[in-house]
Amino acid sequence: MIRVTENLATISDLLAFSAVEAGREPDAVKLLAVSKKQPLAKILAARDAGQRDFGENFVQEGVEKIAKTRDKDLIWHFIGHLQNNKTRVVAENFDWVHTIDKLKTARRLSEQRPTSLDPLNICLQVNIDNEDVKSGITVDEVPELAAACDALPNLNLRGLMCLPIAREELSLQRIPFAKLRALADILRSAGIDTDTLSMGMSGDYRAAILEGATIVRIGTAIFGERN
Ligand SMILES: *Cc1c(COP(=O)(O)O)cnc(C)c1O
Repeated sequence: MIRVTENLATISDLLAFSAVEAGREPDAVKLLAVSKKQPLAKILAARDAGQRDFGENFVQEGVEKIAKTRDKDLIWHFIGHLQNNKTRVVAENFDWVHTIDKLKTARRLSEQRPTSLDPLNICLQVNIDNEDVKSGITVDEVPELAAACDALPNLNLRGLMCLPIAREELSLQRIPFAKLRALADILRSAGIDTDTLSMGMSGDYRAAILEGATIVRIGTAIFGERN
């Protein structure tokens, strides 16, 4: 369990170092601890070490963890593929959804978000490398879906998310991240201001941070191998 604390400290240092390398503030990048398939005890250990943001891919698993940590003041991010028949429980329990790729899903989340809660924070998932197998909208679809989501009352459009093809070389890793950042600039010039680029994982966080990532999503490097 001590390892979670040490891993978090190491990763936080690396993120801060990359941010400074990019000419940004050391705390400019938020670490999202991806806790899917990890036991509650490790989440609680991370919380004790100061980690507040956690990411889950599976609705049922996430909701169970949320229910068991109500008193811990955690922030829960849904980062998996969201089916339309599961939107209600996500709208009622999570704080963020990073994987919006359909207006219908966004509409349901807005309708189902309890008004007693803050608006649900959302990011649009962009299929930045145009992969057949990956979910997400195409680059061309971003402005229209962003405008439509921006108009929904119980959602807060925070930005864009991507999951590029794994590449080894830093210069190649930067290309899709730069593309995502350029998309956010296009939205801004269309009057849609966002503050979030959810991009970068264990193998490519440095490239993502150099291109402006504000949230990086890291799992196994914090918690170890998944069950
Ligand atoms: C699982 C997952 C991660 C974290 O992956 P690790 O290899 O555990 O660091 C990040 N983003 C998404 C969308 C994921 O599904």
